[in-house]
Amino acid sequence: MAEFSQPSELMDEIVSLTKRRGFIFPSAEIYSGLSGFWDYGPPGVELRENIRKAWWQHTVRVRGDVVGLDSAIITHPGVWEASGHLAHFADEMVDCKKCKKRFKADELTGNKCPACGAAELTEPRKFHLMMKTFVGAAEKETNVAYLRPETCQPIFTDFDLIRGSARARVPFGIAQVGKAFRNEINPRNFTARSREFTQMEMEFFCRAEKADEWFAHWKDYRREWYGKVGFRAENLRFRDHEKDELAHYAKAATDIEYRFPFGWMEFEGIHNRTDFDLRQHQEASGKRLEYFDEETKERFVPHVIETSAGLDRIMLAVLCDAYFVDEAPTGPEAREGGRAEEEKRTVLRLHPLLAPAKVAVLPLRRKLAEPARKIHAELRRFMACDYDETGSIGKRYRRQDEVGTPWCVTYDFESPEDKKATVRDRDTLVQERVEIAQLRRFLQDKLEAYLI
Ligand code: ATP
Repeated sequence: MAEFSQPSELMDEIVSLTKRRGFIFPSAEIYSGLSGFWDYGPPGVELRENIRKAWWQHTVRVRGDVVGLDSAIITHPGVWEASGHLAHFADEMVDCKKCKKRFKADELTGNKCPACGAAELTEPRKFHLMMKTFVGAAEKETNVAYLRPETCQPIFTDFDLIRGSARARVPFGIAQVGKAFRNEINPRNFTARSREFTQMEMEFFCRAEKADEWFAHWKDYRREWYGKVGFRAENLRFRDHEKDELAHYAKAATDIEYRFPFGWMEFEGIHNRTDFDLRQHQEASGKRLEYFDEETKERFVPHVIETSAGLDRIMLAVLCDAYFVDEAPTGPEAREGGRAEEEKRTVLRLHPLLAPAKVAVLPLRRKLAEPARKIHAELRRFMACDYDETGSIGKRYRRQDEVGTPWCVTYDFESPEDKKATVRDRDTLVQERVEIAQLRRFLQDKLEAYLI
């Protein structure tokens, strides 16, 4: 079981559901797992991919002033020297001598261990967070390289190449989604603090005097995205950093935080990074990273507004936000449910755009499987579609509820007669008869209403 900063039964339930239904589980569990590393199973892969796509759609596709990059995970070590990571990317940690647990120094209040209460804490010690490897045959110091601890630095090093090839004019942005690695001392809170995770970052290059305006724009724009993918507003907050909290290079920063069952936690940061990074790389590499404005004939190093989100933390927040346990349903579903009607209904109210499967096709009884399979074969060409013929129909509805499938299509004994199937809505439980020939259009119209 994952370790949580504040114990929560609700969080345990969510972790257990994600494992039972194959969303997320410990990496190499048959070897007892490796702390801070997680694997995503079939519905987890789909959900993660849908979140990534929704982010890309909103950040890159629908705008026209942001382009994409997919850079190498291991890059020249000089990048991390210039960015300051080699010298500064470390956490101050404190150990409890009694229970042997380890904590980040800046997360402690007072001199007592948050786990066992003993006042036996060590002095803070620095731990470097970058993961090291060797490039080439020999494991010698000159071959040392690092797995990137964030995805944004390659955006800065590739800035000039991308600007030139995309014929981009300031203001414009570069976005990247990819793996990042941090040797977190104390991985915890399930996937929220892992050692291998995925970031979705965007660096927007603009003139210095326009940076405040673009910072405000990106704050609004990201708020809009969280609304579009269905986050409950009461579980989100935007927290502006005080001047004394800001990183040395930053002029302004806002954390976007989610109310997880274990407490509020940042899952995205928006930063005004000034021209710090481009200048650092310009100086260290000796290559110009300036922009020449054809209209004003000025040459300058652009300033940067960054949006930096963690895909794994957002996915965990999506799961927490969508998790509901309802009273047992009444009406037609209760009658069809067999034993299941007495049980509470666990349901993931995932936004249809994010749901791993949009629809599940279910024959009422096994003997109706053949025509139901035909419907499935047709629908799966157009949308992620599941099929299930085992167990009572009530149980099958519950299974689909637990993985967040928005609609179930049931083929029953009347279907051969009236050429219709029943479409059941996960959230309202309303069932309506829809012509089989119209099913695809019916479901596609529903999905289109949610497009970003
Ligand atoms: P924290 O203070 O929680 O360690 P951070 O401020 O160092 O996070 P950033 O460097 O700003 O985080 O990274 C941007 C985003 O990347 C975070 O908001 C988070 O969503 C994600 N992220 C950072 N570290 C981790 C991690 N260890 N596991 C999973 N996601 C992470």
